[in-house]
Amino acid sequence: MSESGSGRGRIIVLAAPSGAGKTSLVHELLRRVPNLKFSVSHTTRPRRETEVDGEDYQFVRQDEFRQMIDEGAFLEYAEVFGHWYGTSREHVETLLTAGHTVVLEIDWQGARQICEAVPAATSVFILPPSLAELDRRLRGRATDSEATIKRRLAEAFSDMTHWTEFNYVLINDDLEQAAAELAAIVHGRDDVHRTSARRVRERIEAIVSGGAGS
Ligand code: 5GP
Repeated sequence: MSESGSGRGRIIVLAAPSGAGKTSLVHELLRRVPNLKFSVSHTTRPRRETEVDGEDYQFVRQDEFRQMIDEGAFLEYAEVFGHWYGTSREHVETLLTAGHTVVLEIDWQGARQICEAVPAATSVFILPPSLAELDRRLRGRATDSEATIKRRLAEAFSDMTHWTEFNYVLINDDLEQAAAELAAIVHGRDDVHRTSARRVRERIEAIVSGGAGS
């Protein structure tokens, strides 16, 4: 899938470990950038009570998902925490053709596939301000058991090691500020948060190694 051609939208790939506050950030971004559309993924994960089929995800059975893989219907797909998730090629194509910038909120495995298939895509990794804050946020979900929290922390930490593969990296300390920075990236007006910048690398390495107040 190419992104050339006049009036055609762009792809923005967002990835983050759980606890980085990605969902609120995406909502805030959609509020700020009117032309943006959220790509609704397919998943085999059971629907949570608060989720709406067709809005949050297209919830499908395992065999339906398998069939879509066989038909080449996914632009990318991956298994995340024991469930399958995929981005519909047709869905994204329709939005891009209509001139929308499309936000893909997917995991690092999917992000890697998108960046290979669509080199013009912009990828952004979102991080929490520190490991201590990540711990606090994951514990904030009071319904989870200690074992679940420990597992989520380990998974989040392992996800965080992939930040170097992205074009930009943002720290979600303050939602308003992070949303403004993300909007600037979407508009192509940000050079400060490029992963290639030395200052950025130093700051992120401090967070990931636990040296940022954790
Ligand atoms: P959740 O089940 O909590 O909504 O999402 C779990 C993980 O799956 C998150 O990291 C989310 O970004 C990722 N995810 C959601 N949709 C997709 C998708 O279409 N493709 C891939 N590769 N990951 C996805």
